[in-house]
Amino acid sequence: QPLITITDIGRKYVIGAETIHAIKSVTLTINKGEFVALMGPSGSGKSTLMNILGCLDTPTKGEYILNGINVSQMTDSELAEVRNKEIGFVFQTFNLLPRSSAQDNVALPLVYAGISKKERDERATAALTNVGLANRLHHKPNELSGGQRQRVAVARALINNPSIILADEPTGNLDTKTSIEIMGLIEEIHAKGNTIILVTHEEDIAQHAHRIVRMRDGLVEDDYQNQDIKTVA
Ligand code: ADP
Ligand code: ADP
Repeated sequence: QPLITITDIGRKYVIGAETIHAIKSVTLTINKGEFVALMGPSGSGKSTLMNILGCLDTPTKGEYILNGINVSQMTDSELAEVRNKEIGFVFQTFNLLPRSSAQDNVALPLVYAGISKKERDERATAALTNVGLANRLHHKPNELSGGQRQRVAVARALINNPSIILADEPTGNLDTKTSIEIMGLIEEIHAKGNTIILVTHEEDIAQHAHRIVRMRDGLVEDDYQNQDIKTVA
């Protein structure tokens, strides 16, 4: 069933006398359990679309329904609430708190959700165990490798059981071998039924996705099922 329905959305930026149409018109349906790669050249509108999909921004025209909720015209605080509940983010730069342990980083979304310390610790431990970091609970980010840091970020993204994982260039700061490991982890998460949207510049990385959406000049130029899915296992 559709998890994301966006209909003729646009996003323009008005800067003085100039108007930039970052997204001209995009209509897209993404079903529960899909694994989609979003590609396109620099300036094509990928970040703008990801910001809208991730409820960090709202479109200036059109409609966005996420998991049955019309988020098109929400205020910032309403969006923040939807974001905490529905979206797990994974970034190129990991975005971990440098002074907090792996366990505390993973548990952070549960603090906002008002869950007790005991339950937070238990759930964060389980989530880190699931990404292969049971023996790194109390390490800080600078005591972990790049791949381990991204595993922590993936565990954090999953901790609230979000309806979508949005991964923005998740392998952008990793070497080839580590990138493949992280793609293997994302494949496992997809196989458990999660919906994944991955932004990447790299064709090799996009080939792990089951569907590829290519943007150009604020429009969807191409949208197709990947016939040649690459898997790590
Ligand atoms: P991509 O992620 O594909 O590189 P973006 O979504 O960042 O593309 O940008 C699409 C277009 O919108 C570009 O022309 C960019 O300069 C413009 N743009 C993006 N964000 C802003 C902003 N906050 N203010 C003004 N223009 C923006
Ligand atoms: P990315 O590295 O993901 O492509 P961008 O360079 O598109 O990121 O955007 C970085 C930040 O700068 C974002 O907050 C975006 O909204 C803003 N931005 C991007 N392009 C412009 C622009 N032309 N004018 C003003 N702000 C912009």
